[in-house]
Amino acid sequence: METYLGIDVGSVTTKLAVLDEHDELVNHVYLLTQGRPIDMIQEGLREIRKQLPAGCDICGVATTGSARYLAGVIVGADLVKNEITAHAVAALHYFPDVRTIMEIGGQDSKITIVRDGIVTDFAMNTVCAAGTGSFLDHQALRLDMSIEELSQRALVSSAPVRIAGRCTVFAESDMVHKQQMGHRVEDILYGLCQALVRNYLSNVGLGKDIQPPIMFQGGVAFNQSIIRALREELSMEIIVPPHHEIMGAIGAALLVHEEMATGGSSSQFKGFDQSEVKYRTSSFECKACPNNCEVARLSLNGKALAHWGGRCDIWERVAATE
Ligand code: SF4
Repeated sequence: METYLGIDVGSVTTKLAVLDEHDELVNHVYLLTQGRPIDMIQEGLREIRKQLPAGCDICGVATTGSARYLAGVIVGADLVKNEITAHAVAALHYFPDVRTIMEIGGQDSKITIVRDGIVTDFAMNTVCAAGTGSFLDHQALRLDMSIEELSQRALVSSAPVRIAGRCTVFAESDMVHKQQMGHRVEDILYGLCQALVRNYLSNVGLGKDIQPPIMFQGGVAFNQSIIRALREELSMEIIVPPHHEIMGAIGAALLVHEEMATGGSSSQFKGFDQSEVKYRTSSFECKACPNNCEVARLSLNGKALAHWGGRCDIWERVAATE
């Protein structure tokens, strides 16, 4: 069976998805990146290999996500695409009429405006945590509860408390203040979810022509209280697609299927044995601008294969074309 592998490596999670020749999902893997993208790409390859039915042939591989160039070097990607394109392609595959795609991940968030199947506008936030999943993670940790418990308890709120959540520091002190005033924990938690949604809409959503149908993707779409807060804030229906947490990987697999069908060349996929290769990582300080970023380097047998970790992608692009 012909199959296509999409790999989405983000700062919080690493996702792999395999599609068959009819673009049906064959299997997928969802892992926490834990600051170890190389290990998780290799772990993902091992897991996918175990789950793949006998007789499957990987006929194309594409990578996306913040570590897409690094992942592309490791697996031998036929295609490397940004997350906006990968998510939009996946959303349009499942819901061709979609007009707004919202994605809230662990450490970044995006909005993509689509008209007649074409991306017309987008915005991305990678700087402010207050409109991302880490905003809730931080508060859940402080309250000694899991993010699942926070989501469930916030869902039963009947009198939400407004939390001043422009940033995580203010949100925390305001939550303590509201607890001292005697508000129910459930109402404070839902107030937090509303604050995240307000931050998201006033940050990445600012000035965007948000129109239904709206598709909500990314790991935070597991959180029913955030979906409720989005519905209430926008007064619009929010569609959460199946496999919403791996849409970037699915989009990458769809794109490489199309690429291989039109390109006519064979895949550069290096094979599942890449999961056992011992890479060396090191780092250096980039002095090309005042940011002086610490840039990580991946090497094999003394040869630099990829770079990542800078605030811009100058090094990632250099490594990808070497
Ligand atoms: S990686 Fe980019 S942002 Fe960072 S110091 Fe180098 S040029 Fe500047």
